[in-house]
Amino acid sequence: MNIHEYQSKDLLREYGVNVPRGYVAFTVEEAVENAKKLGSDVTVVKAQIHAGGRGKAGGVKIAKSLEEVEQYAKELLGKTLVTHQTGPEGKEVKRLLIEEGSNIDKEYYIGLVLDRKTSRVVLMGSAEGGMEIEEVAKESPEKIFTEVIDPLVGLTGFQARRMAFNLNFPNELVNKVAKLLQNLYKVFVEKDCMIAEINPLVTTKEGEVVALDAKINFDENALYRHPEILELRDFDEEDPNEIEASKHGLSYIKLDGNIGCMVNGAGLAMATMDIIKYHGGNPANFLDVGGDATAEKVAEAFKIILSDENVKGIFVNVFGGIMKCDNIAAGIIEATKQLGLNIPLVVRLEGTNVDIGKKMLEESGLNIVAADSMADGAQKIVDLVNQ
Ligand code: GDP
Ligand code: MN
Repeated sequence: MNIHEYQSKDLLREYGVNVPRGYVAFTVEEAVENAKKLGSDVTVVKAQIHAGGRGKAGGVKIAKSLEEVEQYAKELLGKTLVTHQTGPEGKEVKRLLIEEGSNIDKEYYIGLVLDRKTSRVVLMGSAEGGMEIEEVAKESPEKIFTEVIDPLVGLTGFQARRMAFNLNFPNELVNKVAKLLQNLYKVFVEKDCMIAEINPLVTTKEGEVVALDAKINFDENALYRHPEILELRDFDEEDPNEIEASKHGLSYIKLDGNIGCMVNGAGLAMATMDIIKYHGGNPANFLDVGGDATAEKVAEAFKIILSDENVKGIFVNVFGGIMKCDNIAAGIIEATKQLGLNIPLVVRLEGTNVDIGKKMLEESGLNIVAADSMADGAQKIVDLVNQ
């Protein structure tokens, strides 16, 4: 789960990480009020959306007066910001962070991520601040430094200082940087983060080290023990279908293809997406209905797929183990009764109660194409969609 920059900064502040003073604003009036409260010479007006790349897209404005704050707030609120991370449709700006300006000397990149290869949290740093880390990794990987963190001892002072030295922070700031990194690590572990990224971390002309941007992503499986984080969820930033799916305990991720997939089990769901691609098609979603879905759950899943306008055909690929094929059939029949079905549907069922499931579908009167195998099903749905 993602949160906004201002929420991330509030959290960092709690843990002693230096961030600029700032307040969130939902209206132009609030923006001006906040700027007055800050009373700084320079005020930064920052669009709050769950996507980076705002700077380049005009979502970060430097205001030199209250009039400018007002002007920028008017300009940004309600605007659809298109950055390289939002996709072409962009994201509407509904919140602003009004922050005191910083006198930047140099920008750095700092990130904590979970490294699946070492099964450890890894601290990454680069002196190429403000740049996308992916770009640095591609063009000059030697400029990225990493520290693999032992979960038993945490990020040691030695590792934190070595990072600071590697990134060429001025000597007199090394201890400040090291402390900041250790505090950031504390946030990461205590709040069950997946990513904690500060880009840029800056040094100022006044000799301070400040987190100028903050992006934190939390492990959804651990949210149950952080109700205070769950409260920060902004539904406006999420895909409505994904929200609906999560209410029903379905793992659904929208993609940009046109073949809807309904599958049980994450592994089979991924294999299904692969085989659709292999046959020249494009999946519209990842959807795992789970191992033991009820007919109701399957119906909800089917409705979610149908409500995606891009979907031009559906491929149901189910291997019934604990899952019973007749539940799948009942769910499909129920959902199509409510919503109709005027796109091709290919079904491949295998496993427990497969005969009952197939018979139910046959007798339903629905226009269903039966498939004998995964490959057969993928080929059929791709052909039907491309007709
Ligand atoms: P992102 O583009 O979405 O990652 O947004 P950032 O918060 O990283 O801001 C983009 C850039 O705006 C930063 O790299 C800085 O160069 C600049 N910026 C942000 N805040 C300030 C500030 O307080 N003062 C100055 N001078 N520049 C800022
Ligand atoms: Mn940034």
